Amino acid sequence: MIAVKQPWEVQRMRTSARLLAEVAEIVRSAVRVGVTPVELDALTERSIRERGARPAFKGYQVGRDVFPASLCSSRNEQVVHGIPDDRPLLEGDLISLDFGLEYEGYFADLAFTQVLGPVPPRVQELLDVTREALYTAASCAVPGARVGDIGHRVQTMVEASGFGVVRQYVGHGIGRNLHEEPSVPNYGKAGTGALLKPGMCIAIEPMVTMGSWRCRTLGDRWTVVTADGSLAAHFEHTVLVTSHGPEILTALS
Ligand code: MG
Repeated sequence: MIAVKQPWEVQRMRTSARLLAEVAEIVRSAVRVGVTPVELDALTERSIRERGARPAFKGYQVGRDVFPASLCSSRNEQVVHGIPDDRPLLEGDLISLDFGLEYEGYFADLAFTQVLGPVPPRVQELLDVTREALYTAASCAVPGARVGDIGHRVQTMVEASGFGVVRQYVGHGIGRNLHEEPSVPNYGKAGTGALLKPGMCIAIEPMVTMGSWRCRTLGDRWTVVTADGSLAAHFEHTVLVTSHGPEILTALS
């Protein structure tokens, strides 16, 4: 059952998403060589709480495993769900930052990848293609489209550029819970899957690799890395389906 938000709920979603975009902008401007992910996590948590919101990831539980931080920071071959550590960021690093908060009962989710300093053109292309795949996918989130249309667009774009699409982790519905139905894979067949209707909210989040799409999880039971050690990028927005088209709720300025 996919939740269709009432107009008052849509307003709540807009507020949560705007607060999260503010937080992400603050943290984005703090990313530089020498800063540690632990410092970025502290800044994330402080910025979320200053807004009267609650970090969505801190304390998030899968089975007996509890995520310990307010920010997911995934570096280089790490794809998603990295736990912030105290190793300073280095020139040439890729860092993917994933943010989530809950405000007055409604969740928002947002991620981006940044590079530190100059990187080889193919690495910049990885970022550009992943970001572009997100915006192209978001443009498919219109009433009457199906979830498979989104995955199909992402997969087609990404694979045409010679990159890999992660299969194991997918986007999701979002609202009163961080993760709701439907699952929103970054691969699939057009014309299949759940039908999108006005008032539905989904987090679209392509995860793209320089090599094989296969991933594994590290011994910390959270950090997902590419199986072949290739670099990865991740971009995500919380998107509302409206009768006049998609609205990217977490848009950054
Ligand atoms: Mg997400």
